[in-house]
Order: sequence, then C-alpha cells, then structure tokens
Amino acid sequence: SAPLDHIARKPLIPTSSTCLKYRSLATQIDHTTAAYQSDAQKERVVILGSGWGGYTVSRRLSPQSFSPIVISPRSYFVFTPLLTDAASGSLDFSNIVEPVRDSHAKVDFIQAAARSIDLKRKTILCEATVVKSGVTETPRTSENERQVDEGPESNIKNPKQGYRWWEQGEMFEVPYDKLVIAVGAVSRTFGTPGVRENAFFFKDIGDAKRVKRRVRECFELAVLPTTSPEMQNWLLHFAIVGAGPTGSELAASLRDFIYKDMMRLYPALEGIPKISLYDVAPKVLSTFDESLSRYAMETMKSEGIDIKTSHHVENLRWGAPGDRPPHEMDPKRSLTLKTKEEGEVGVGMCVWVTGNAMNKFVSQALDKVEEFPVDSVSSSLQPSKDDQSSWEFKKFSKKGALLVDGHLRVQLQDGKGRTAVLQDVFALGDNAMIETGAPPATAQATFQEAKWLAKHLNNKDLDQSPPFSFRNMGTMAYIGSERALMQIPHDDRNGNRSKYLPEGITGRMASLVWNAAYITMSISWRNKLRVAFRWTLNRLFGRDISRF
Ligand code: FAD
Repeated sequence: SAPLDHIARKPLIPTSSTCLKYRSLATQIDHTTAAYQSDAQKERVVILGSGWGGYTVSRRLSPQSFSPIVISPRSYFVFTPLLTDAASGSLDFSNIVEPVRDSHAKVDFIQAAARSIDLKRKTILCEATVVKSGVTETPRTSENERQVDEGPESNIKNPKQGYRWWEQGEMFEVPYDKLVIAVGAVSRTFGTPGVRENAFFFKDIGDAKRVKRRVRECFELAVLPTTSPEMQNWLLHFAIVGAGPTGSELAASLRDFIYKDMMRLYPALEGIPKISLYDVAPKVLSTFDESLSRYAMETMKSEGIDIKTSHHVENLRWGAPGDRPPHEMDPKRSLTLKTKEEGEVGVGMCVWVTGNAMNKFVSQALDKVEEFPVDSVSSSLQPSKDDQSSWEFKKFSKKGALLVDGHLRVQLQDGKGRTAVLQDVFALGDNAMIETGAPPATAQATFQEAKWLAKHLNNKDLDQSPPFSFRNMGTMAYIGSERALMQIPHDDRNGNRSKYLPEGITGRMASLVWNAAYITMSISWRNKLRVAFRWTLNRLFGRDISRF
C-alpha cells in the first residue's frame, strides 16, 4: 500500500459547500451505546437503500459474521413489478411492500438519506427523513406539492429555503466497515419543460397512490354538472409517456381499471375516457423481439389504447389547450401536453416513465474524492511522489452510474485515466454499471447481483471467485385484458440462438405464467397469499375503486 501514500494525504477537496455545512452539524452515532448495538466482533455492513438491491443484501448476509444496517428514506421494500396493479386497484398497496424492520431479521435500520461518503474515515453522512414526504423521487416543485397536500392557504413551507422547514432532518454520521451503495435511480425527463413540475412519476408507493387518486378525481370532476363536454374530454384523457415495460403495463392496467370497473360507475361518461401511450421510438416494448413487440402493439390498439409512437413530447403545463396566458397549477382543470407531431392536447394526468437518471446522491455527492485510505485499494499503482492528480468516483458517463468491477467493487479514477478499486465499497442495481458487461437495469439483475455479493461476502471468497455474470431468466409484460407477453431467453451458453426454443409466449397463457411468477417471487408468504387472494377476489367482485 505504500506507493499510494500521497493519495491518502491529499488535501481535502470539498464536494460542495452544503456537504461541509452538513458535516459540521453532524453528530456521530455511537454504535456501542445507541439503539444500534452492533457486535464489535462482527463487520458492520452499511447498506444504502431498501430496494431490490439493499433489501436483498441485508436479508442474505450471515448474521454470524456481519451486523448489517440499512439506511434508507423508505422504511419498506417495494415489489415494483406489481406497482401498476396497485395503482389500478387490482392489489392493495400493502400487498406489495415488506417492512425493513422485522423482528425475524437481524438487521438494523435508520430512516435517513445518505448525503455524502468520507472514504478516509469510512463514514456516511446522513440526513434523517422520518417526517419527510416524497423522498424517493426528485421532488416536484414544492409550491405545487404544497397546494396539493395542504391546500392553498397553507403557510407551512419556509419560502426562504424552498422546502417545508420541518422536513429538514437531523444530520449524523454512521461508520462502516463495508459499504453497499444501492440507492437506485430517479426518473429521466430529458429536460422536457414542465415535466418535473407537472407530471407524475412512477417509482414508489406514493406515486402509485397519486395516479389512482388522480384518475378517480378526474372522473368526479368530469361528472360535475358544471363541467363542459370539452373539459370532460380533456380530464378523461390519460397520457403515459414512455412505452417501455413499465409504461406499457401501466397503460394496460389502467385500461382494465377504467374500461372494466370505472365505467360501471359512470355510465354517463361512456365513450369519453381515453388512454394514450407516447414514445419517441417507432414501437412499444422495443426491448422485446420484433414479433412480440408487434403483437403487443396490435393487442393494445384493439383494446382501445391510443398508441402514439414516433411522438416527441415538447412540454407539459397546467391549463386547457388554448389557455393564454398559461394557467397556474389547478387540479380542478386539465393539463396541456404538446407534441411536435400533434400540437397541444388536453390531458387529465400525465405519467412520465421514460427511463432512469441518476439519483442526486450518486450524480452530485459522489463526485470528487476527498481522501481515501491507501490500504483500501487493490490496484498496484506506482505514482511518483510529486503526483498531483485528483481522484473521483469512476462513472459510466459524466454524471451516470458508478462503474464497478466484475466483483461489484466501486472504482476510482484519476485525471490521468488510472483506476483504483475500492476493497470495501460495493455498488449494485440501477445506480451501478458493471464494467465487464452490464446487465439491464431490472429487478431481476439487481436481485442476482445482491444474492451474489451476499454469498461471496458470507463465504469470504470474493477475491477468488469468478466475476458476477447475469443469467437472463426471460422478460414479461402485461398488455391488458388478461393477456401478456413472455420472452424466453433463447441463447445457449455460447450466446448462439437456439432453434428449439420459441421466441416467446403470448396471450392468456403468458398472463397465467405472469400471475404465477409474481406470486412465487413475492417476498413473504403473507404477501404471496394476499396477492393470490386479491386476484381471486377481483374476479368475483371487481377491482378496488376507492379513492384515498
Ligand atoms: P430501488 O429498488 O429503486 O431502491 C432504491 C432504494 O434506495 C430505495 O429504497 C430508496 O428509497 C433508497 N434511496 C434513494 N436515495 C437514497 C439515499 N440518498 N440514501 C439512502 N437510500 C436512498 N424490473 C424487473 O426485472 N421486472 C419488472 O417487472 C419490473 N417492473 C418495474 C415496475 C416499475 C413500476 C418500476 C419503477 C421498476 C420496475 N422494474 C422491474 C425495475 C426494478 O424495479 C429496478 O431495476 C430495481 O428496483 C432496482 O433496484 P435498486 O435496489 O437498484 O433500486
């Protein structure tokens, strides 16, 4: 480790003034006396995030060797493949979450967001988020949120600071022996004007609740005797932007919910509701094989979903088309969605699901490296004594995912393109990119990475083990009316296409496989049974149309 001595002694380079301000406010958690009683004999593994990556690692680490602490703004894990079912009343929100605190799991939990990492001191600076709302997604304009949540009269927001004053959490530092970064990603908007402020995103339970509530709200607004037929058309036009698996499944599930269940309650609105699925690509579900994607497109069209592929959304604002000047945020009215191809259309709700952008913690806080301990890197760098290069976390693109090696260890890079691999800092899931062959940003891949990491940490054979390799188990998508697609992986071990396997399964058969797969994959037995029970109840009594 000696040759890297000068790197460890490099002067502190502040990542941002806010970080320093935070750090001076922070208190350090004493793990021997506080509620977080970690065993001195065991390595303390701090896990950032309680999603597919963080939750899985925490449950699979051996309690004999490690004392895991999950730090996440969310005190629960979300089974994301069924989020569309919860938004459309097919499942209760509680059916798809697992609590992180669990009397059976030997895992500590701190409800907080990581703000920065000190590699030299091996500590994480955190901000408590116990009373904070909307913590997973980059917040929408706080002004809008305030009006939705507390009503226009509310003066709870501190106007100077741009957030509600009581949401600012306590700052503290948590030490680690090993660190796993699995903070996921946020929605990508491509800088489209008005989207961050006015669209709904779709990543967490709060997002799904907002979608369901808004659909119900739009129906109630549309039947008011004061609502004009033109406004009815706009309020009951639901736009989904992004025709990947999440957007397509959401369009299909909302279609079932609206056409099968809601229309029974609002016969006077027959023929008015409309669901449009927008994408810049020429087809939907473009990651599926050509024939499956074509089948999906034809099926969804025949079910009444308006497929608007090759459409470029230019902006989204409150107010009806033609409102001049543009209207302020007003949930009693429609929004206007403008595309290059069609101009302005009125919509009651726009859900934006066009892929991932990096979480602020990864894109901004993990940028420059202040100092890091020389014995924590595996590379045999031989820099000269007067070497002044500055180090940073190696990213896939400028502000992109953290680059990790085949053993999921985070890499650092200096200005001269040299790489150092951190021994005790790992990253996986949507916030990481494996340099030697990146699997897709899916729950399937994240789950495999998390299992692989926990297994090799438990066996203490990470360095000797072959690198992680992703095993494609196939992909599925629900496309409405109890029909689905299932793409079967048809490459053999050498990556050649097998002539014996079909490209995929479609229709009702695939839908049954979809149902069975997600019941099996649900984490706890309680939720497996609840999901199966609710789907059976839906057949008898229809979906839950209540508005929360
Ligand atoms: P996440 O599961 O997003 O978890 C991130 C965690 O980090 C969260 O707990 C969050 O609160 C926490 N966090 C955020 N910021 C901080 C911070 N600063 N400090 C500490 N913690 C923080 N994949 C499939 O394979 N199949 C599917 O059918 C499928 N369907 C999907 C449906 C939807 C609606 C969505 C949104 C995704 C779907 N995916 C699916 C993708 C899959 O959910 C993601 O790839 C997966 O969740 C990634 O796991 P992760 O652990 O990296 O991130």
